[in-house]
Amino acid sequence: MSQRIAILPETITNKIAAGEVVERPASVIKELLENSLDAGATDISVEITAGGRRLVRITDNGHGMSREDALLSLERHATSKIRTDSDLDGILTLGFRGEALPSIASVSRFRLATRETDSLEGTEIVVEGGRVRDVKACGMAPGTVIAVEQIFFNTPARLKFLKSAETETGHVGDAIARMAVSRPDVAFSLVSDGRELLRVQKSDLRRRIAQAVGRDAAAGLHEVAGSGGGITVTGFISGPSVVRSSTSAMFTYINGRFVRDKVVQHAIMQAYRGVIDRGRYPVLALFVELPPDEVDVNVHPTKHEVRFRRQASVHDALQAALEEVLRRSPWLTHRREMEPAATALPPTGQAYRERIAAAAQASLDIPVRPARTPYPASYPPTGEKGVVHTVAPSNDTVKESAEPFRPAPAPTDSTGYFSALGIIGQFHGEYILCQSGAELVIIDQHAASERVAYQRLRRQFLAGGVESQRLLFPETLELSFSEGALVVRFHDDLARIGFELEPFGGATVIVSALPRLAAGNGGMGLVRDIVAELTALGTSSAFEASVDGLLARIACHSVVRGFHPLDSSQINELLKAMDETDFAASCPHGRPVSHTITLLELEKIFKRT
Ligand code: ADP
Ligand code: MG
Repeated sequence: MSQRIAILPETITNKIAAGEVVERPASVIKELLENSLDAGATDISVEITAGGRRLVRITDNGHGMSREDALLSLERHATSKIRTDSDLDGILTLGFRGEALPSIASVSRFRLATRETDSLEGTEIVVEGGRVRDVKACGMAPGTVIAVEQIFFNTPARLKFLKSAETETGHVGDAIARMAVSRPDVAFSLVSDGRELLRVQKSDLRRRIAQAVGRDAAAGLHEVAGSGGGITVTGFISGPSVVRSSTSAMFTYINGRFVRDKVVQHAIMQAYRGVIDRGRYPVLALFVELPPDEVDVNVHPTKHEVRFRRQASVHDALQAALEEVLRRSPWLTHRREMEPAATALPPTGQAYRERIAAAAQASLDIPVRPARTPYPASYPPTGEKGVVHTVAPSNDTVKESAEPFRPAPAPTDSTGYFSALGIIGQFHGEYILCQSGAELVIIDQHAASERVAYQRLRRQFLAGGVESQRLLFPETLELSFSEGALVVRFHDDLARIGFELEPFGGATVIVSALPRLAAGNGGMGLVRDIVAELTALGTSSAFEASVDGLLARIACHSVVRGFHPLDSSQINELLKAMDETDFAASCPHGRPVSHTITLLELEKIFKRT
C-alpha cells in the first residue's frame, strides 16, 4: 500500500517534548498498545515472560505496515500521525512523536512483523540494540506482531532499575487495564509465563470497568453524562458503598488518553466531599472530551500529563457533572438518616431532663432526684473508694441518642491505674467517664481499644506472628494488577501479620484468614487498606520497617467506631487491658487516649473558687 509514514522535519521535532519513554516493560507495552489502537486494531494480545524482562510480545489485527513503512517506522521522528506544526494543536491519535519504536528497538532485541490486509505477505525486521540485522518476507495474518526480547540487555544501568518479575507483571497488568477501560470495543488479553491473567472480549463500558476493578464495584456504579462549554464528561462513578483506600481504581481519561492529572483529581474529590470519608477514593472511569486544541498533550514524553487551556472550566465541568449524579442519588438522604445525632442540637428543658432521669432510674434501679437544674443529677456515693455514679451529662452536650448509663461495680482487682478508677459511666457511647480521687478522667474508648489492640498485635508479632483466624468461607477480592503482585511478593510477610492471601488468577486474591483481632469487622476493607499501605513500600526489608504502621492499621480495623454502648463488664475489661498494655498515653495514630479534669479546674468552671 501507499506510504503513510514520513520523517518529521526538525522544525517540528524541536517542539516535541523530549525524553525517554522506555522505563520498564510496562512502558514498552503502553507505547505498543497505543500504536495498535492507532492502527485500528480490535483485538490485541500481550504475552510476557519473566515480567517482560525476557520477552514482551504484542499481536494486533490493525492495518499493518508496508515494507517501506515498516523500515521507516524504526527511524527517529518517523510517524504517520502528524505532518505539520499545526497538527500538533489537534492531536487525535494516541501517538505522534515518532519515537517509541526506535527507542524500544535501541535497547532490546527487537522483531517487527507486519502485514497490510491487502498484501500477500508480511515483512519481518530484526533489530539488535538499534541495528537492523535482517529484513525479509514472512507469512502471517494481517496486522502487526512486535516482540521485544531482553530489554536493556545493552544498557545494564537501566536493567538494574527493574523490579522483581511479579512487580513488573503487576505494572504490565495495570497498563493493559487502563487501555482496556478506555476501549471497551476492543478485545484484550494478557498471558504471563504461559498463564492467562486477563482476557476481555468486546463489551460495554460498565462491564469493562467491572472486569478491570472487580465485580463488587460493578453493581454500585452510576452513569455520568454531562456537557457544557465544549466539554463533555461521560463514564461511571461509584457511590459511598464502593470505595478504595487508594486511587488505583480511578481511571481518568482526557480525549481517550489515560492521565493522572491534578486538576482532574481535585475536581473529582471536591465532588465527593461529604459523600465518602477522607482517605477513601471512589471507583470510577471518567472520560473528559474537549476540542483537541484546548488540551496540550505535548507536555511530557509519556503523555501521562496534560495541560488545559481553560483549566478552571475543565475543573468546574467535571465537578458539576459528578455532583449532578451524586446529588440525585439515594444514598445521600440515607446517609444523613444513618448519621448519629451528632449534628442535631441538644434538646433542652424540663421534659428532657425528666426523661433522662427516668431512663437513668430504669437502668440504675436506684432512687433518682428529678433534675431541676442544668447541673448533673448526682447520687450519693455508693460502695468503697467513694465511687460516685452520676448521670453525668450537662445539658449542653448530652445527645438524645445517649444510652442510659449503667452502674459499675467497684473494681475487683485494682492493681493498675486504670482498673483502680471509679467508673462513673459512659458518655455518648464513645467516652468512659471515671473518677480518680479528686480528678475526673475521660477516656476515649476507641482510642483506648485501638491502643490495646495494637499492643496485643505487637506482642503476638514479636512472639512469632499475629494470631489469625480462618474464614469459614474464604472470600475473593479483586485488586489492581500491581496490588495483586504485591500480595504475591509479600505473601510470607503478610502471613506473619495474620493474613492468608493467595493469588487466584489475574489480579484476584483469595482471602482465607485474617488477623483474629480484626476478623469480625469487614475484613475486606482491612485487606485493601493493608495492600494500599504496602504499595508505598519498596523491598522486603522495608516491610520490617513498616510493620508498626501495618499493625496500627489492623488495630484500627479491630475497633468498632462511632456510638457504641458498653456495659460495665466491658468497661472493666477495657480498663484492665489498658493496665496490661504498655500504655503510651496516645493511640497508635497519636491521638490522646485519656484526659483528666481536676477538681480545681471544675471549681473554676463553676466559679466556686
Ligand atoms: P508514533 O506512534 O508516535 O507515530 P511510533 O514510533 O510509536 O511513533 O510508531 C511509528 C509509526 O509506526 C507510527 O506512526 C505508525 O505509522 C507505525 N506503527 C507502529 N506500530 C504500528 C502497528 N502496530 N500497526 C501499524 N502501524 C504501526
Ligand atoms: Mg507510538
